[in-house]
Amino acid sequence: CGIVGYVGRSDDARALDVVMEGLGRLEYRGYDSAGVALVDGDGAGARVDVRKKSGKLANLTELIAREPLPPSRTAIGHTRWATHGGPTDENAHPHRGGSAGKLALIHNGIIENFHPLKTRLQDQGVQFGSETDTEVVAQLMDASYDGDLTSTMRHVVQKLEGAFTLLAVHADHPGVVVGARRNSPLVVGIGEGENFLGSDVAAFIGHTREALELEQDQIVTITPDSVSVIGFDGKAAEGKAFHVSWDAAA
Ligand code: GLU
Repeated sequence: CGIVGYVGRSDDARALDVVMEGLGRLEYRGYDSAGVALVDGDGAGARVDVRKKSGKLANLTELIAREPLPPSRTAIGHTRWATHGGPTDENAHPHRGGSAGKLALIHNGIIENFHPLKTRLQDQGVQFGSETDTEVVAQLMDASYDGDLTSTMRHVVQKLEGAFTLLAVHADHPGVVVGARRNSPLVVGIGEGENFLGSDVAAFIGHTREALELEQDQIVTITPDSVSVIGFDGKAAEGKAFHVSWDAAA
């Protein structure tokens, strides 16, 4: 139901704080579970760490206090309003793809054709850890990963029907968050040496008021110093730039 993403400079390790703050600002939307993923480390040993919990954001905060996360410059966070699968810890987002656990993905919306996609993956031997429509996207991304997170996202969204805002991070790409949207909103917050993603501007309003609204069927790739947008067709695209007024933050 709410989505936040963040990338900062390599000497900036506050991704978790930024994402938790953004989730707090999105609480008004209502939710039943919450979770975060962050990229831990750089290079060959990098991993993606996930913490997720049903119930209030306070439950996630408690879990992170018990099982701390390392400093990181790249993180994504989610509050869930369950549509497929009950509000359990397993069904909370982020979802991981594959046994290596290098990829994590969050989703707002509904993947209408998740069932045939899931059956095909299961026939190929993929093991699922949740009952969500979302995990199908994480597993598909892992199964079709080509070394480039943006092009992998582009290939996978072609196969999806329904409404989705998706964000993904990958251990091989420590300073990158990739997002995609169809029939569901996604906004970029433009900072200096840091960039943000949110399901609405409340996600990053404490940090920047310069924003870019993605249009239908677009994919965005953010790094600390760049924001690039393409269509699902692979062509360069732009999105709609706007300035968030003070009123919108009230
Ligand atoms: N359909 C997904 C699920 O049930 C996402 C729901 C949401 O938008 O939070 O997990």
